[in-house]
Amino acid sequence: MSTELLIEQSPLMKTYNRFPITLEKGKGSYVWDQEGTKYLDFTSGIATCNLGHLPDVVKEHVDVQLEKLWHCSNLYHIPEQEALARLLVQNSCGDQVFFCNSGAEANEAAIKLARRYARVEKGGEEAFEIVAFNQSFHGRTMATLSATGQPKLQDGFAPLLQGFRHLPYNDVQGLRKLPSDKTCAVLVELVQGEGGVNPADVEWTQQLEDICKANDILLMVDEIQTGMGRTGTLFAYEQYGIDPDVISIAKGLGSGFPIGAVIAKAKVAEAFGPGTHGSTFGGNPLASSAGFATVNHLVSSDVINEAFILGQYLKDQLEKLKAECKEVKEVRGKGLLIGMEISGKAISIVEKAREKNVLILVAGPNVVRILPPLTTSKEEIDYFIGVMKEIFVES
Ligand code: PLP
Repeated sequence: MSTELLIEQSPLMKTYNRFPITLEKGKGSYVWDQEGTKYLDFTSGIATCNLGHLPDVVKEHVDVQLEKLWHCSNLYHIPEQEALARLLVQNSCGDQVFFCNSGAEANEAAIKLARRYARVEKGGEEAFEIVAFNQSFHGRTMATLSATGQPKLQDGFAPLLQGFRHLPYNDVQGLRKLPSDKTCAVLVELVQGEGGVNPADVEWTQQLEDICKANDILLMVDEIQTGMGRTGTLFAYEQYGIDPDVISIAKGLGSGFPIGAVIAKAKVAEAFGPGTHGSTFGGNPLASSAGFATVNHLVSSDVINEAFILGQYLKDQLEKLKAECKEVKEVRGKGLLIGMEISGKAISIVEKAREKNVLILVAGPNVVRILPPLTTSKEEIDYFIGVMKEIFVES
């Protein structure tokens, strides 16, 4: 069946413009399509397969769990979930963890937690507002869409949830408008991933924290794309010298198994008592065992440090490309979350790369997003740069 007919006759809702390839298997930095064509995957399933495809350390652990118990409800103790929570707490500034299945659900839980903390723990009946930032992306559920600072994604979904306000990103003056009697929390990405790979300025971020602390506003960091080693540290906030109250994670947490989490300081986490929040699948034995093996490897091996160095190497090579090709306007990002702003359409570069068997992404109309697995190598980066050179020289 032709690809056009396949799309036309598909019973799937058309929420995605899919590329005309069907991926069948993956290993490390590579995926293969149905015809057996091999691709260098510098998308990592959108910052999800951070340890590459089918990492042995995770597979071995999940294989054992597959033989024992796949699912049981959160009405019973789940040792794998407890172990993963302990690992996350030991390696972050948080004290308690709630598990869910995706990034949007993690932010949804963070939003609920902030509102409940303001009501129950602080007694602030009116303090329900969450401040987020222009160009941010926090998810597709109604609350996380309302938190998202991109009007184009909200089109057709009015009325949005009340209680969200947006300020300009990286704008020190703009922070003056932050505190209000209604505000209970701030939700911020330290590198805006979907919004164009925009890293937060250190000075701005520290001022943001100061204002939050001075006004008893929770600082909630959305680490769904930046977390799990993606930016060269386990969490991006470690590079900013800040101490967030709430951290949301997902994507790379399960190496491809759906799992998300909110990590919070004890005083905040206590606002969630029995029956206040929940999830059928959240942190089930299978997902938690994938999460445990992933995080355990991230914190006990050198993979994150190596990714930091490789990220710098990739950035340097892209800077050289920029010096050679005037179409490349800017290279930015942290670790292995890299954006390349170009003068033309980013999608045309992504298409050309795919024709040369390299998979990359866009982040907005004119930003190419490059997300290699943290386990990539200098050789793979050199190969990728060679392909980029060919594309920019040809265009
Ligand atoms: N927050 C950020 C920063 C993201 O990048 C994403 C997804 O791209 C989300 C939230 C939503 O995550 P999910 O698609 O797992 O719901």
